[in-house]
Amino acid sequence: MKTLLKNVSLRGKIVDVLIEGNRFKKICEKIEEPVDKIIKCDGKAIEPAFYNCHTHISMTLLKGLADDKELHNWLIQDIWPREEKMVPKDIYYASKFAILEMIKGGTVFCNDMYQYGEETMKAIDEMGIRGVVSKPEIDIPTPDLLEKKKKIVEDFAKYPNINEQRIIKGMSCHAVYTVSEEFLKFYLKVATENNMPIHIHACETKVEVDNCKKKHGCTPIEYLEKIGLLTNKTILAHCVHLTDNDIQIIKKHGTKIAHCPVSNFKLKSGLMAFQKLNDAGILVTLGTDGSASNNSLGMLEEMKVCALNAKTQANSSKAGNVNDIYKTATENGAKAFGIDAGVIEEGKLADFVLYDLNHYLLLPNYNLISNIVYSAQNECITDVFCDGKQLMCDRKVKGEEKIIEDFKKLAEKFKNIK
Ligand SMILES: [Zn+2]
Repeated sequence: MKTLLKNVSLRGKIVDVLIEGNRFKKICEKIEEPVDKIIKCDGKAIEPAFYNCHTHISMTLLKGLADDKELHNWLIQDIWPREEKMVPKDIYYASKFAILEMIKGGTVFCNDMYQYGEETMKAIDEMGIRGVVSKPEIDIPTPDLLEKKKKIVEDFAKYPNINEQRIIKGMSCHAVYTVSEEFLKFYLKVATENNMPIHIHACETKVEVDNCKKKHGCTPIEYLEKIGLLTNKTILAHCVHLTDNDIQIIKKHGTKIAHCPVSNFKLKSGLMAFQKLNDAGILVTLGTDGSASNNSLGMLEEMKVCALNAKTQANSSKAGNVNDIYKTATENGAKAFGIDAGVIEEGKLADFVLYDLNHYLLLPNYNLISNIVYSAQNECITDVFCDGKQLMCDRKVKGEEKIIEDFKKLAEKFKNIK
């Protein structure tokens, strides 16, 4: 399949872009050759799509049920009791709806951590995006369930990947306060044997760090290093409360970070040192966290809050410049998972979005990247492509009415569950 984008603006220059299969084949001023489809792009700009590197997409089902709380009470009182009532089909419908929201906002990838990952995998496959799927199991405070939970983890590692091209199976350990040392070591063993990335919440709150010091005599990062869990295939979500030594340890192991500023603000977890981590040469990516703590899966908003967080935390208007923030949401996300995408270049995977340059939020167009980071909203994005395939055309996603109807029925069921 060959698709030709005619007269599209690429960083201010009008070009034609030829996509062959799932990659950018040629980008130059005029391309004249027979193709299967021509898309006229006058007045549109081509830019990379977004990569959401930490989320629990099905938590969209719990959006708005418990606001104005701090992490630990929120989890214990509002989230875990409701999650216990979920069945696999709920995850499938909630995932499809969440992916619809992501596509509408230009996101084509999620690093997901949630129960019934097999259902999320099915939804990702059907919706056409990319994703890392994983199933977090916990054994604190239920140590009697450890053997049963180990079996679930092992079974997931053996479960067939239904789309090797767009889906990566991962291992997710929830956090050091919910997973015992024995279980963390088990996760590491299974991940290593199956060459799977590891995903864990780390240093999200001061309470987590203080409790870890009391229990293990060291910070969560030092503890994870001791266990061997910090590798170049590990991604740490949040990392709000790090010591200078923690930063050196993360850098030494080539471990990645998924920064979730909106969730950190809303749960009052704190300000992550974006500039310091970026300057240290650590690969920082961006994530929304779940919609129960955000309450959106929008990466446009996440970028703006990321910039504001960086400036406030560093007490400097120079911190979190637009180009670094933009890279965090695009190129860095793809890089963290070895996806050969995230930039618009010949030979790269064709994951991209088209922006309407006549949209009032993108005017005046002195600096498109600044407009995207600070002022754009979903409506500025007209089309979304992933792996060379068009997922959104003029803001319409195929089958969206049914996805919304199915989700509304599901939400009706969950409304009264406590
Ligand atoms: Zn999370």
